[in-house]
Amino acid sequence: MKSKLAIYPGTFDPITLGHLDIIERSVSIFDEVVVAVGRNIGKQPLFSVDERIEMIQKTTAHLPNVTVTYFDGLIVEYARKMNAVAMIRGLRAMSDFEFEFQMALVNRTLHPELVQVFLMPHEAYTHLNSTIVREVSSFGGDISAFVTPHVADVLHEKFHREEK
Ligand code: ADP
Repeated sequence: MKSKLAIYPGTFDPITLGHLDIIERSVSIFDEVVVAVGRNIGKQPLFSVDERIEMIQKTTAHLPNVTVTYFDGLIVEYARKMNAVAMIRGLRAMSDFEFEFQMALVNRTLHPELVQVFLMPHEAYTHLNSTIVREVSSFGGDISAFVTPHVADVLHEKFHREEK
């Protein structure tokens, strides 16, 4: 049988335990999961693409069927190029729904064969996002409940290098 590849796009600035939860659920459904780091025109990221990719690679090192890439442009076109059968998105609270619903309908119009899969993370992560993690870390707060130790170190280094 043809192996089923799913693509999980996002900004991942940086990857959190919420993202990891979604990736772990995805690998139990699909043969291969490609985590695709994209540009978001509405967001000016703290980390470079290379930094974000490296953090995702380290965070998912225990998952053999996960690869990390960068994409530019339309996600549906990238999905087509990768022969992805599905696109994964995480759904946290109702606040995510409106935007995701709109995006999903647009993407479905552009690429009707691509199945869009929405996964819910563990309750512990439903209020977690990368912005909060960056903010807490910038004020020197403990982010160990939200990201891996490696990502916590990278954030600490970014914000508090000069203080040492
Ligand atoms: P984007 O800018 O595309 O929303 P993000 O990196 O913030 O990129 O998120 C990528 C995907 O992961 C989105 O589908 C988002 O809803 C989901 N996601 C983000 N944080 C969490 C979380 N804590 N739990 C579950 N899904 C999440």
